[in-house]
Amino acid sequence: MINLLSNPKKMPCYGFNIPAFKYCPAAQLLAKIKSKAKKFICDSCYACKGFYTFSNVKASLQAKADLITKSLHQDNGQTFVDAMCDQIRAKYFDKHGNKKKLKTKNTDLFRVHDSGDLFSPKYISAWIRICEQFPTIRFWFPTREWKRDSQLPHLQKLASLKNVCLKPSAIYVDEPAPQVDGLDAGTSVYTSQAQAEQDGHYVCPATIEGNEPTCQANNCNLCFIKGCKKGIAYLAH
Ligand code: SF4
Ligand code: SF4
Repeated sequence: MINLLSNPKKMPCYGFNIPAFKYCPAAQLLAKIKSKAKKFICDSCYACKGFYTFSNVKASLQAKADLITKSLHQDNGQTFVDAMCDQIRAKYFDKHGNKKKLKTKNTDLFRVHDSGDLFSPKYISAWIRICEQFPTIRFWFPTREWKRDSQLPHLQKLASLKNVCLKPSAIYVDEPAPQVDGLDAGTSVYTSQAQAEQDGHYVCPATIEGNEPTCQANNCNLCFIKGCKKGIAYLAH
């Protein structure tokens, strides 16, 4: 079985990724109708450039997506669910089922998709089954799939889990974070800290110039906190 977990440097925990844009149907739809007067956030997607374009990284992301699509087709995603659960269990828990204490990773947290999105109802259902198995881990999902009406009921079901923080992402730079019924407070991208604060957001400390660019260095877990009512703004540089 391939290694499914990723180790994003800026994050305090392990994560999971699939290729960007190709597995982001809402981003694809929005790209076709985007306003020319505004800056479409997905046009600057960090997961479409740099490290993510190295051939080994691309191959690894694609292999994960292939495993998911094959499993969704063959057994409603159960092979994927079982593999993810096995790998999370091995990294986060000891053989007695107790949570491990790791030096550099917080085993109370898990980040889903710093690349890719919740591309279909069946895929969302697979994540519901994964998250249900780990009530002591808080899962953070960003998503632009809230823009597709057909996805919303499925996203709301995932967001209804107590250990899931499902945050709708903004579409354009310098626009307030979306507030969507049944989902957690959203996130946005701003070019000005003052404007982001004036529009009522917490500003991600890891994106403030001069600060260390990691969650750990800023002692911040805000994106994982369910019930946070205020949007979060990441600053664009
Ligand atoms: S939805 Fe996220 S991962 Fe997908 S293209 Fe947009 S910014 Fe990139
Ligand atoms: S707001 Fe906090 S948890 Fe979210 S990305 Fe920034 S530093 Fe990390």
